[in-house]
Amino acid sequence: MSAPNVEKHEFQAEIKQLLDIVIHSLYTEKEIFVRELISNGSDALEKLRHVKLTEKNIFDKDLDLEVKISTDDTANTITIQDFGIGMTKDELVKSLGTIAHSGSKQFLEALKQGGEKNENLIGQFGVGFYSAFMVAKEVKVYSRSWKEDEAGHVWTSSGAGEYEIEEVEGQRRGTKIVVFLKDDDKQFASDSTIKEIVKRYSSFVQFPIKLNGDVVNTIDALWLRSKSEIKDEEYTEFYKFQANAWDEPRYRLHFSADAPLAINALLFVPQENPERAGLGRIDPGVSLYCRKVLIDSKPDELLPEWMRFAKGVVDCEDLPLNISRETMQDKSLLQKLGKVVTKRFLKFLAEEAKKRPEQYQEFFDKFGFFIKEGVAIDFNYKDELSKLLYFESSTLEKGKRTSLVDYVSRMKEDQKEIYYILGQNREAIESGPYLEGFKARGVEVLFLYEAVDEYVMSNLSEYEENKLVSADQGDLKLDDAPEPNEEGSLSEDESKGLCSWLKETIGDRVKEVKVSTRLVDSPSMALSPDAMSSQMRRMMRQMGQDSGMPNEVLFEVNPRHSLMINLNRQRESNPDLAKLIALQAFDNSLIAAGLLEDPREMVTRTYEILSQASEKM
Ligand code: ADP
Ligand code: MG
Repeated sequence: MSAPNVEKHEFQAEIKQLLDIVIHSLYTEKEIFVRELISNGSDALEKLRHVKLTEKNIFDKDLDLEVKISTDDTANTITIQDFGIGMTKDELVKSLGTIAHSGSKQFLEALKQGGEKNENLIGQFGVGFYSAFMVAKEVKVYSRSWKEDEAGHVWTSSGAGEYEIEEVEGQRRGTKIVVFLKDDDKQFASDSTIKEIVKRYSSFVQFPIKLNGDVVNTIDALWLRSKSEIKDEEYTEFYKFQANAWDEPRYRLHFSADAPLAINALLFVPQENPERAGLGRIDPGVSLYCRKVLIDSKPDELLPEWMRFAKGVVDCEDLPLNISRETMQDKSLLQKLGKVVTKRFLKFLAEEAKKRPEQYQEFFDKFGFFIKEGVAIDFNYKDELSKLLYFESSTLEKGKRTSLVDYVSRMKEDQKEIYYILGQNREAIESGPYLEGFKARGVEVLFLYEAVDEYVMSNLSEYEENKLVSADQGDLKLDDAPEPNEEGSLSEDESKGLCSWLKETIGDRVKEVKVSTRLVDSPSMALSPDAMSSQMRRMMRQMGQDSGMPNEVLFEVNPRHSLMINLNRQRESNPDLAKLIALQAFDNSLIAAGLLEDPREMVTRTYEILSQASEKM
């Protein structure tokens, strides 16, 4: 029987699911729960420091800002206490009973997608507070808010579906978590084991961590030390701590500046891009410090949005010390700071792309999306960012990529435009009709494989005064038409006649039929009447978006191709078959452009043509 003032609560369904997995998982690195609880303690202390800037009435005002750990190997418990902001009863219910933690959310998302109870996901996302249940048969959370008129409470759960909350007397400010260890996990009640774990995971916590009375961490602001004194492993450890990561950083940039602002910054790029795994938009990952004091761990206004994949720390001495995250009064100072850091980061990426192109390609494959996003929407850094774009192209071998800078350096003397074409893949582009005219003239065309690429190109619109132009655009002018081939060509009059007959025969579905200056091997091609390429429309349609599909396209025919030469002859002597062939050539072109909506009519027509042809066999 529980006491009358004990309230029973059920966990939210998602938390039940999460706990079920956490408790039954065979995840081997159970020790991460120590790090998670210390990091929560450190967060709570950090929050208190901020509250202190603006509030006068704070309960237990003079307590030290520290995390205290005690182990008891007789009772088999480990206790982690902080004197941070604490939690009210409502906050206990909300924070520990519902899904508030972004890592836990991502964890559940990933489970839904993968469908399997993959233990490694626990390590990848960190399940925060709930990780305690990997080792606990019961957890008690004693907490008392900094708000003076709130009572203290204890939250108790064995992780099986429900928890209890009861008011307690005599509670200090902050939170004390007592973990009652399972029989198999007694090692976490040992002083030496915990000491080792704290050193491994929490050495960068900016508050003293006391283990059974002794301070075990050296509060070290790595980013303020000189580069030459820092070992690679230290950087990596710091990255793991700062980014809550388990991998090795892909890139690292450590720099300081004196003007226009005194800055020390340490930035990292992770191995993996969580947004690519479909896990939703990530929060900014570069924390803002002022002389070692954390101002904001996820500042929205410091760096541009597309830089959200970067992790690390920016420390600026020139920020007013009493700046708080709620009252970032000096926005312009923050923007100035962000600009210096962003420019430096962009310069770093550009250097890396030159120095270690292969490594950069890997980066671009995983994180290129952010660069593209920046090119498309961030006017401030468009120029620098556009130099970081890389594409395959018609003149490079498969797998090799070029920047716009290098493309321009290879441009033909009289070439004023940069050409690109969007397609499913290289093979699809190369087998389509659009490239022929460019190939014949030795003009390079960039290959784009993602719909976003074309969006980027049309937003960028030009690069160093060279217009960016889609190669399947209708109003494209390429000079010096290819030489007629040996079998000859339709005369200008014949071509004209054929074109107007085609227009009449095809009817409303075609806007204009004209003689192509671009086709070499293909008989015909369909083109978009406006700047949006037909590939773009097709991809948008596949994504279920209304592309404002034009009903009418441009149709270009090749007067040097035997099909057109024959068609021109047959349209008088054999008008029925000629009509079928004309319609079929048009549909084939639509297919190549990805614009044929309904193939049924075309299939019927193909049989008709086949049966007419078979009569002559
Ligand atoms: P996260 O720390 O990423 O938010 P957790 O699962 O670790 O996720 O914690 C959930 C929430 O519980 C925290 O956001 C915080 O509001 C609250 N919390 C956990 N531990 C403490 C603590 N020691 N002091 C105050 N609040 C805490
Ligand atoms: Mg946490």
